[in-house]
Amino acid sequence: MHRSGAVMAWNVFKFCTALRGLGSIMILLVLGVVGVTYYAVVLTSYGPALYDGGLKCLTALAVLISFHSLLVMLLWSYFSVVFTDPGSVPSNWRPQMDEERGEADPLTMPEYSGVPAEPSHPKIRFCKKCNQLKPPRCHHCSVCGKCVLKMDHHCVWVVNCVGALNYKYFLLFLFYTFLETSLVTICLLPQFIAFFTDGEIPGAPSTLATTFLAFVLNLAFALSVLGFLIMHISLVAANTTTIEAYEKTTPKWRYDLGRKKNFQQVFGTDKRYWFIPAYSDEDLRRMPELQGLDYPSKPDLDAQCFPFILLGVGVGKERDIQMLLLCVPASPVQA
Ligand SMILES: [Zn+2]
Ligand SMILES: [Zn+2]
Repeated sequence: MHRSGAVMAWNVFKFCTALRGLGSIMILLVLGVVGVTYYAVVLTSYGPALYDGGLKCLTALAVLISFHSLLVMLLWSYFSVVFTDPGSVPSNWRPQMDEERGEADPLTMPEYSGVPAEPSHPKIRFCKKCNQLKPPRCHHCSVCGKCVLKMDHHCVWVVNCVGALNYKYFLLFLFYTFLETSLVTICLLPQFIAFFTDGEIPGAPSTLATTFLAFVLNLAFALSVLGFLIMHISLVAANTTTIEAYEKTTPKWRYDLGRKKNFQQVFGTDKRYWFIPAYSDEDLRRMPELQGLDYPSKPDLDAQCFPFILLGVGVGKERDIQMLLLCVPASPVQA
């Protein structure tokens, strides 16, 4: 069904406003699910089993240690995503030119026209809403109302954008959530089966209801997070964000440097930091891609997109200069 652009724009605006309004309610919802699960697993099931002695006691101890370890990692990753700025564009950001390769500053080059646009080549774009140039892989988030470096998506569960600086933390949050919810599902499964059979079920009705709710919630989260996790593993392997996966049309992706380097660009090179939401100082110093502004690309594809040519300058309001900088191959320029 055809809908006018004005109506669509209005609906999108309403949608973004609704997402902003959700805000901290989602954090409370996550903590609520954690609370219900904690009550069912620790306080009513495996905590009391510690006093049973024998094999039951050992099983309960193993479950409780695993549950608490994963919960600490899950919450650490979760709040790291929530409170880490996904990556903002510095106010005076300009594209960096490699002077050794004879590249000129695109912003000072004379105006050039008559060169056909090359849609397959990356380009420096301008965000009209933020009134600034966009670095490579940067996108404007309508919910946050700002440009986000290497934006992946806006996540309502973490009330934040997932971008260059918190993508690893988001992946770890998915990873630990999957492990924790799977553990809880397996641990509560015997009680869930007993719930539908004639077996003996200890505890008050309210305790049974909480256990039932915790099982259903954790099973649902485990299955849905598994789908997300598989999708993001394939995205990391190809060095692509969710937005880029939808946008890219060419099979030659310039940032795909091979699985190992693609993985390191998100998780860093120091193995000690791969499973915690942090980076080593060494990685932060040596890897500019962790800052979200510069990304290494394939040398052959890299060479295709220089020099930058200023194709047109449209002047609107004094502060609203719309610049269009497109990458075009060197040969058509010289012809
Ligand atoms: Zn913007
Ligand atoms: Zn956002």
